[in-house]
Amino acid sequence: MHCFSRIGRNLYCEKVPLRALAERFGTPLYVYSQSTLEHHYQSLDAALHPLDHLVCYAVKANSNLAVLRTFANLGAGFDIVSHGELRRVLAAGGDPAKCVFAGVGKTEDEIEFALRNNICCFNVESEPELQRINQIAARLKKAAPVAIRVNPNVEAHTHAKITTGTYENKFGIALDHVLGVYDKADRLRHIRIRGVQMHIGSQITSEKPFVSAVKRMLPLVQVLKAGHHVEFFSVGGGIGIVYDPALESGKPQWWKSKQAKGVITADSYARALLPLLQPLGLRIVLEPGRFLVGNAGVLITRVQYIKQTANKRFVIVDAAMNDLIRPAFYDAYHEIVPLFSRPGSRFPADVVGPVCESGDYFAKQRPLPPVKEGDYLALMSAGAYGSVMASNYNSRPFPPEIMVKGRKVSIVRDRQPIEELWQHEHMAAWQKD
Ligand SMILES: *Cc1c(COP(=O)(O)O)cnc(C)c1O
Repeated sequence: MHCFSRIGRNLYCEKVPLRALAERFGTPLYVYSQSTLEHHYQSLDAALHPLDHLVCYAVKANSNLAVLRTFANLGAGFDIVSHGELRRVLAAGGDPAKCVFAGVGKTEDEIEFALRNNICCFNVESEPELQRINQIAARLKKAAPVAIRVNPNVEAHTHAKITTGTYENKFGIALDHVLGVYDKADRLRHIRIRGVQMHIGSQITSEKPFVSAVKRMLPLVQVLKAGHHVEFFSVGGGIGIVYDPALESGKPQWWKSKQAKGVITADSYARALLPLLQPLGLRIVLEPGRFLVGNAGVLITRVQYIKQTANKRFVIVDAAMNDLIRPAFYDAYHEIVPLFSRPGSRFPADVVGPVCESGDYFAKQRPLPPVKEGDYLALMSAGAYGSVMASNYNSRPFPPEIMVKGRKVSIVRDRQPIEELWQHEHMAAWQKD
């Protein structure tokens, strides 16, 4: 579900025609729908209402302050992976007591900062990390709240770069080892065990891997509940979204999509997991990222040239892999639609950016509706792992970000000024004159 729809020939975000935003703010441009963010959070929250639960939004999916504020206002917690993300959450008015700190490489400074801010817990990914947290907490005369991340060794059937729950990955502590680690944690004076955690991967479009992982975890969670006073079980994030609406509508597909089949929803996810989780009598924590923001954002770009070669048509646009790297990095599929639809039949084309890399494409041999030089296109479902993964490669400034709510429009990140690209650079001392 999302609030981007066509009214007449124009594509709207809520009540705002996107073409007006493109003309006013220029391209490339990210646009987010606040109602869509709220809808997704509320649908998940409602589906889980039989459980004592906390939804901790995974900040890494989209860390814009306005996005964080939207979720903070709804009572969300946050899943953070760095000092920087905790600072953003604080800047956006989020509650540090609802923050869980994930990641395999937490530094001393990060641990200390998080302890001083009294976060909810550290999701511990290794024994050395546990020792380090204990030492830093001792120095600060605190008890560090922790959950241990368990690797349940299940296949999530998603892209290799976003699979995290098998023993091939760097994440978590193996299921058959973890009780020993809880015993050790119990003996560390400055560790306070609060929970148990798992996260098996991202863009998981079926309930099955979640069910298998939770089932594998249940005996452990029951033992922990009995012996170690765990207050919560975090089932992680990873709920997938629809990138290709041909799948959602069940219509014949125009092209062979790389997306996995089927659609997962807040309700289908809850229906599959509630029977397993409810009997535990524990608080359940979720860490969704993509599910909350993915379909709430689009990247708008403008067609610069149509280049026809002997055997191919290229639509060259002004956004590039530095603005949205998902196609290059994950072979990701993004629906591409014109902001203003012209009549006529579809024609296969490669949609490419201006960056000097053959990986700089958004679509290959995609049957596109008619487009002309100067037209605007929307890359749909770009709200997650879009702007946060942007870089300045080819000295291209970060695109601006706009939040829409009903008829209201607000710029929530300015286009990066060109001078800022080298603002923190200097000539070497001996080159200055
Ligand atoms: C990335 C990540 C998430 C969020 O993943 P999504 O697929 O965006 O829901 C949640 N928890 C952990 C530990 C993560 O690394």
